[in-house]
Amino acid sequence: MFGLMQDYPLLVHTILDHGALNHGEREMVTRGVEGPIRRTTLADVRSRALRVAKALERDGVKLGDRIATMAWNSERHVEAWFGIMGNGAICHTLNPRLFAEQLDYIVNHAEDDIMFVDLTFVPLIEALKDKFGTVRKYIVLTDAEHMPETSLPDAVSYEDWIGAVDDDFQWKHFDENTAAALCYTSGTTGNPKGVLYSHRSNVLHGMMVNQPDVFGLRSEDTVMAIVPMFHANAWALTFAVPAAGAKLIMPGPAMDGASIYELLDTEKVTATAAVPTVWLGLLQYLEQTGKKLPYLDRVVVGGAACPPMMIRKFEIDYEVELIHGWGMTEMSPVGTTGKMKHATSGQDREAQLKLKEKQGRTPYLVQMKTVDDDGKELPRDGTSSGHLLVKGPCVSRGYFKLEGSALTADGWFDTGDIATIDPLGFMQITDRDKDVIKSGGEWISSIEVENVAVGCPGVTEAAVIGLAHPKWSERPLLIIVKDQGAELDEAAVLGYLEGKIARWWMPDDVVFVDEIPHTATGKIQKMELRERFRDFKFSS
Ligand code: AMP
Repeated sequence: MFGLMQDYPLLVHTILDHGALNHGEREMVTRGVEGPIRRTTLADVRSRALRVAKALERDGVKLGDRIATMAWNSERHVEAWFGIMGNGAICHTLNPRLFAEQLDYIVNHAEDDIMFVDLTFVPLIEALKDKFGTVRKYIVLTDAEHMPETSLPDAVSYEDWIGAVDDDFQWKHFDENTAAALCYTSGTTGNPKGVLYSHRSNVLHGMMVNQPDVFGLRSEDTVMAIVPMFHANAWALTFAVPAAGAKLIMPGPAMDGASIYELLDTEKVTATAAVPTVWLGLLQYLEQTGKKLPYLDRVVVGGAACPPMMIRKFEIDYEVELIHGWGMTEMSPVGTTGKMKHATSGQDREAQLKLKEKQGRTPYLVQMKTVDDDGKELPRDGTSSGHLLVKGPCVSRGYFKLEGSALTADGWFDTGDIATIDPLGFMQITDRDKDVIKSGGEWISSIEVENVAVGCPGVTEAAVIGLAHPKWSERPLLIIVKDQGAELDEAAVLGYLEGKIARWWMPDDVVFVDEIPHTATGKIQKMELRERFRDFKFSS
């Protein structure tokens, strides 16, 4: 027997409808690429998102078409998101930090139809446009006054484009499992993989992060979304903030300490989220200037392990609650947050600060467990370390256009992280099973660097591992076994890599060893290498 409740599909545009109707006066503030700060309201964002949907329909966009955005966090980007999804198309966020070959692969794999581009990225896209076989129109996220001369086909300024239609448009109505957004992750080996979110998963995930023990957003909050919309859904803030009716601050491209501080202070931000590298810049700025954070209530740190020093600085020196979070693109992305719980609230401060070094516990809608190499579940004892598996309505079960399931036989998603879970449910990442390195929040493929390095004359074998770095969270170390008798030094190897890999992928140091350890199947034992070089100090 079915219940007798209404059939009310969870569609993302219902969030904007709710926000605009009940909190229409709430501001959205953007530091624009053009320079000045722009202010708008939730009501206006909805009206303009409806125009986006109408203009897309006029341009022939249909249910399921992929519409790309390559843009910083801004109110125009939010409007484009809701307009694309509310039209039934799929919003495909492009990460500008990927290289040309990756972008070329992703755009063609997704078969993007139209692309929204921020001014900053026009030259980059101009250089690639001939490779983008399917993109027929470009909308530059600016106004007529700032519209550049461009060779992009059928290019139009965003303001001119939405200015040509009114907001008299009915959001499309469809099944809540309809695809809403596409985000490729390069946090795995091989080509980037497309994570395909649905309307239902985005709405549920937005609600999930608004639980008090996650980000706990309220209508009184002013939230700064520093974590980019192009990387893992801006950790759901684009949905969670309008749902709560909070004020939203978008920093655009300026992520340095001074620019971030200026917005935190002038807009009286109460809650914000970013990767550790961004917070390091802010903390340095605060120390240099002696400034404080009187309005900030809580800061979410995730995407990479939060250093213990950062926890103490925010919590003790600046009296801001630090929430350490973990997740991944495939999880929409939030998986855990380290808010204190009933059983820990009586602990002394030192014990709580120590607990915050762990990545945290799951909210309702995420399940996790750790298993050994044979798939056997490990106890939640805080010491047994194993493969971290997850499950939930906002977790991927496959990748776009890739055959087959991404899940284990019993329906769990393997995160590629190695972790412990303690009796209170706090998870701690202890290592990584996947061959990638996270630097400043973005991925470096160790395998690709190794493949180039073995081409260097005099190199027998090469292994690249990520080691802890105070600014970038992790940086690559290149470990080399030389050919017998070969004369080879660090400068020669780095010189060889120059121009063959992206500049920010260049290893920070090269070390030479007699032997690299292998598994029985011949794979390099990265975990053993990371253990061996755990105390290695980069030379610069
Ligand atoms: P992404 O899909 O780019 O968001 O990356 C997800 C991966 O980043 C996870 O599988 C982890 O390897 C890593 N990660 C995210 N948050 C944390 C954290 N708080 N501590 C350690 N690693 C993290």
